[in-house]
Amino acid sequence: MASARCNSCGSIADALAWRCRSCEGSLDLVDLPPFDAAAIVEGDFSLWRYAAMLPVERRFSLGEGMTPLAPARIDGIRFHAKLEYLNPSGSFKDRGTAAMLNHLAANGAGRVIDNSSGNAGASLAAYAGAAGLSATVYVPAATAVASKKRLIRAFGGAIVESHDYLADVYAAAETATYASHAWNPYFVLGQQTAAWETWEQLGRRAPDAVLTPVGHGGLFLGFYRGFRALRLAGLIDKLPRMIAVQSAGVDPIVRGWKARAQQPARVTPAQSVADGILVDQPVRGEQILGALYDSDGFALRVDNEAILRAQRAVHAAGFMIETTSAVTTGALPQIRERLGESAELVLAFTGSGLKAISNSH
Ligand SMILES: [Zn+2]
Repeated sequence: MASARCNSCGSIADALAWRCRSCEGSLDLVDLPPFDAAAIVEGDFSLWRYAAMLPVERRFSLGEGMTPLAPARIDGIRFHAKLEYLNPSGSFKDRGTAAMLNHLAANGAGRVIDNSSGNAGASLAAYAGAAGLSATVYVPAATAVASKKRLIRAFGGAIVESHDYLADVYAAAETATYASHAWNPYFVLGQQTAAWETWEQLGRRAPDAVLTPVGHGGLFLGFYRGFRALRLAGLIDKLPRMIAVQSAGVDPIVRGWKARAQQPARVTPAQSVADGILVDQPVRGEQILGALYDSDGFALRVDNEAILRAQRAVHAAGFMIETTSAVTTGALPQIRERLGESAELVLAFTGSGLKAISNSH
C-alpha cells in the first residue's frame, strides 16, 4: 500500500495532507507498485491503462492521457513531440489532477482549492466538476490572463482574485482540501504515465533525452520517475537524459545545476513571457536536481526572444502550443550543440495555445 512520506523528516502523512504536518516538508509516495508490463490494460486508451501502477481508487475520468507522440521538425532538427496540450482541459496537468482528485474524493474531500495563474486552475475546475466536488481557484489579481479565468469559470470553478494569493490559499487550506498541483504527491504520480506512454509509443524503448519546461517540475519528475520505474522493472537499460528548460527570467534550477548544488539557487524573478513556469522556489527543487544528476541530464535557460521565435516556428509547423511550451523548442540549438544531430529527443508540448489565442493574435 503506497503512502505519502515527508522528504525532510520521514513522517508518514495522512491521506488529505498536502505537506508534512510536523515540519512543513514536501511529500512523496513510497511503496508504489512496481511497473508490470503484463498489467497494462491494452483496451483502455487513457492513462488508466496503467491502473495497476496507480494506487488510487478510480471513480471518474475525462479520458486523460494517451496523447499522441508526433514526429516534428523545427529549424532542421527532428524530434518527437508529446502532445500534452491535447488533454481534456488543454494541458499536461490533467494527468496529475485526475490521479490527485480521484484519491482525494475517495478519502472524503468536499471542497477543493488551488492557487494557479491558469492551466492548473482550469484542470482542477474541470475534474472537480467530473467528481461532483466544488472547486475554488485563487488567482493573482494583477497578472491572471482573462481567457484562463473564463475557462476556469466555464468549467464551474469559483475564482478568488487576490493580491497575496499564496498567503490566502494557505489560510483557506485550514478549512478546505488544498488540492495543490505543486505540493500533492498524487499529482506527480499521475504525471509518471507520460513516460510509460512514451515508452510504449516508441516501441517499448526509451529515447536518448526528454525535454520539459520546468516550474515546479511536476511533469519533469513524472517523466523521470516513470522511466526509473521502467528501468527498475528491467524494461529499459538506461534512463533518458532529463533536460530541464527554464526561462531566463526565473531559473533557480539552471543556476543550482551549474553550481552542482543540492538545492535550487535563490533568484529574483524577472519578467518572462513563459507565464506557466514563473516559479522561484520549486517545491521539489532538490528532487529535480537529483533527477538531473542521476540521469546525466542538464538544465538550460532560454530568453524571451528565443521563446517567442520558437513559438512562432512551432505554430507554423502545425502545433498550437502556448508560449510556455515553446521553451523546450527554444532550447533545441543548445541541445544540438551538446548532443549532436542524431540524438533521439522527446519534447513535451505542455499547454494549449487556443486558451490565449484571442489575447495574443
Ligand atoms: Zn516532515
